[in-house]
This record gives sequence, structure tokens and C-alpha cells, in this order.
Amino acid sequence: MLVSNWNNYPRVEAALADFRSQDEALSILEEANKCIPRGLGRSYGDCSLGADIISTPGFKRLIHLDPQKGTLECESGTSLDQILSVIIPHGWFLPVTPGTSRITLGGAISSDVHGKNHHLHGAFGRHVLDLRLLTPQGQVLECSRNENPEIFQAVCGGMGLLGLILSARISLMPLESVFIRQKTIPAADLDQLMGLFESYHQSTYTVAWMDCLKSGRNLGRGLFMHGEHCRAGEASRRGLTHPDSKVLSLPFNLPFRALSPLGIKAFNSLYFYRKSRRTGYQFSNIASFFYPLDVIDNWNLLYGKKGFLQYQFVLPSRNSREGLQKILQHINSFGQPPYLAVLKLLGPGEGPLSFAQYGYTLALDFPMRPGVFSLLKALDRVVQKLGGRIYLAKDARMQKHMFWQGYPRAKEFLELKKKLDPENKLSSLQSRRLGLCQNQY
Ligand SMILES: Cc1cc2nc3c(=O)[nH]c(=O)nc-3n(C[C@H](O)[C@H](O)[C@H](O)COP(=O)(O)OP(=O)(O)OC[C@H]3O[C@@H](n4cnc5c(N)ncnc54)[C@H](O)[C@@H]3O)c2cc1C
Repeated sequence: MLVSNWNNYPRVEAALADFRSQDEALSILEEANKCIPRGLGRSYGDCSLGADIISTPGFKRLIHLDPQKGTLECESGTSLDQILSVIIPHGWFLPVTPGTSRITLGGAISSDVHGKNHHLHGAFGRHVLDLRLLTPQGQVLECSRNENPEIFQAVCGGMGLLGLILSARISLMPLESVFIRQKTIPAADLDQLMGLFESYHQSTYTVAWMDCLKSGRNLGRGLFMHGEHCRAGEASRRGLTHPDSKVLSLPFNLPFRALSPLGIKAFNSLYFYRKSRRTGYQFSNIASFFYPLDVIDNWNLLYGKKGFLQYQFVLPSRNSREGLQKILQHINSFGQPPYLAVLKLLGPGEGPLSFAQYGYTLALDFPMRPGVFSLLKALDRVVQKLGGRIYLAKDARMQKHMFWQGYPRAKEFLELKKKLDPENKLSSLQSRRLGLCQNQY
């Protein structure tokens, strides 16, 4: 069947094998020549694509919730959405969550996903207590910070290349209310926007939307948002019900021109001015604060049949301002506006392939149009020169040399891979493109 991840590019012919038990997973691994685990396919690109895929969403049992200690153990195909529906009524929340709840626990660990609180609370892997890994040689390893610590660190962010995560135990954060107290502050340019991230560094959640179609003195104009969990009874007495927002669905692939650059320019201005007028604190629920895009089930179809590319990079703090400025200038001069631009501040990374480093990360959604690959190459040069890197979970096209320069600990990862996967059984289209297979580098 034809398979693609969230951005619908690339699409590949692949065979998907499901499993419901550890034994079934083992026999799939034993029989496969080359294969790669895949969760809910919410990555953008080819990190979970290949001719043979081990599909995990059928492996989704909640193993144990300890409501006193706030720990949860589940099988790796469990979705964050499923987890939230169980933990919220007990007064717990995920300590780190990305911008969608439709991903699996295995996908969250393998990409070491980050949320709006990375500057304070790190990535998902920091909150994993232990995990069980089925190695390509058929062994089941218990991994934690004390047991097989080197493997544990590398599996967090390891893009499914060291083994199939069977299950994991994570620590949860206490929650008193399903509401978030948030404030949006307009910023006229990049300096103001970055200044706000610094001033609100102690806020739990910070993020900014950027209008990439502005140039000159409004270059980097945006809306900065910060938020905190409400205390019990602060916003409503409705208690801890999982706020399941209504899910809408698009019936078909919309033609690409549904989002023309002119339309986006008009949208950006309207959005900026409307949001700028709301200056006080507002209350939103967890679903609308963390997962606004989940309201439309298949919003990815808005980009049309050819799909789109998400370009997400991080630049070290010392170079972030210069780099962001150059990136925005390139976007303007190429006349290729991204349809979405989200800026976050990151703290340090942990695993050898983890994306994070101190500095700013910008995620840009580009529709697939002629010239987009040339623009991204120009952006690559800026990111590379200034010591940044591209997020593997959002990559469909990075070149090998850029990867090896951006991820200086990749050699350490590859050494470990040689030990755990001497036959190079676990490989994706991405790992082959980047030379993340032994004998290739
Ligand atoms: C709307 C939207 C918003 C997003 N926002 C964010 C964000 O804010 N921050 C962020 O960091 N990411 C974000 N993402 C990206 C997403 O969180 C990651 O790509 C995540 O890894 C997807 O998980 P998945 O279950 O869909 O896995 P897939 O996309 O199928 O796979 C991702 C990787 O995990 C590996 N993998 C999956 N399951 C296993 C397993 N059991 N064992 C070993 N390896 C496994 C795969 O091999 C692959 O390398 C967003 C994605 C979308 C669509």
C-alpha cells in the first residue's frame, strides 16, 4: 500500500505488519530483512518509512497507572490522547506534550519530542523512568538511567533505529484544573519577540506565532503567548474531565490554491490585529491550548495532494538572532511564504540524536511548489553556518553532510547501533539518506 507521514511527502509503497503481543513483534523482526517501527505517522518526512514497516498502534494496552505516585506504564502504540483520557480524571497530566495528542508513546520517545516548556522541563525522554526495548537481535532489554543507561539515552531521540520500544513507564505532573491561564502579547519585530521570551523565561509555557511575510522594520513581527495551569476552581468548577474538543474532518484533498500567498498575507494581518486587541489574561482548556490543530482531523489535506514540507531548525542562542533574521530575509526574497511559523525557546538536549540545544527553534510549513527545495537549501546554508541543526522528526530531504555536522554525537550513536544491530536491520528511508547505517558513513 502507499504510505506517507503527516505531510504526505514522500509517499512510498510499503508493507505494514501489525502486532498485538511481544511474541508477534519478535517474529516480525526475525523475518524482516530491513524494517522500521512506525507509530501514528505524525512525523513529517521519512523517518518512519521504508519498504517494511512494523506498525505499533495495535499494541496499546495501559499496563499500570499509579495514581498516588503519578506514574504510568503503557505499551508503545498507546496514543497520548488515550493516555490523557485516563490520567486527567486522576489529576495528572503529561509533563511534556507536543502540538498534537495523536502520536504514540513510542513515537514521543523515539523523536524525544518537545513542547512549549522545553526551556524549563526538557523533552519527553527526561520524564521516561524506564522502557523495554526489543533489539534487532531479539533480546528484550530493560533500560533506564541505572540499567543500560547508554542505550536508554540513545533510544530517547533514536528514531527507532536501535530497537522496537515495547513499553515505557513515565512520570506524570500533577494537575488541578483542565484550564490554562494564558496571555498573548504582540511584538512589532524580531527583537521584541525574542525579548519577550527572555522576560517570560520563568513562565511554564511559552511560544510565538510569527508573520513571515513582514519585512523591513516589521521583520519577525509576531504574537508571543505564555501560559500556566490554573489552580483548582480558578477558571471553572467543572473539575478534571478530559476536554475532548469536537473533531471536524475534511472530506477530500483541497486544491492547493485554497491557501494562496495573498490569502495567507491577508490572514496573517487579520490574525495579528485581532489577537493584538485581546490584551488581558484568557482561559482556555488543555485541548485548545496544546492541540489547536487536532480540532480538524485531517488538516494536512489543506495543502493538497502533493503534500508539504515542514522545515524545523534550532540555532544556538548566541547565533539565534542573526540566523532568524537571515532566514526571514531569504524567505522574503524567494517569495515562498510558509503558511505556519512557530517559534520556541529550547533548553539543552540529552540523547546523542536529540534535537534540542540551547537556543531558538522555528518550525515553518511550506507547501510543495516549484522552487521550495532551492529555498530550503538556502536556509540550510544559514543553519549550518551558524551551528544549528534540523529536527529529524520533521525532515524529508536533509543532506548527509548537514546531518553529520549538525549532530556531532551521531558517531557515538552509530557505535551503539553497530553493537545492537550488527546486521543493520532497522533502517528507514531517512537513516539511509543520512548515512545512519553502519558501513555507510
Ligand atoms: C500537528 C502536529 C504538531 C506537532 N508538534 C510537535 C511539537 O510541538 N514538538 C515535537 O517535538 N514534535 C511535534 N510533532 C511531531 C510529532 O510529535 C513526532 O513526529 C512524533 O514522533 C510522532 O509520533 P508517531 O507516533 O506519529 O510516530 P511516527 O511518526 O510514526 O514515527 C516517528 C519516529 O518514531 C519511531 N518509532 C515510533 N514508534 C516506535 C517504537 N515503538 N519503537 C521505536 N521507534 C518507534 C519511528 O521509527 C520514527 O523514527 C507534531 C506533529 C504534528 C502532526
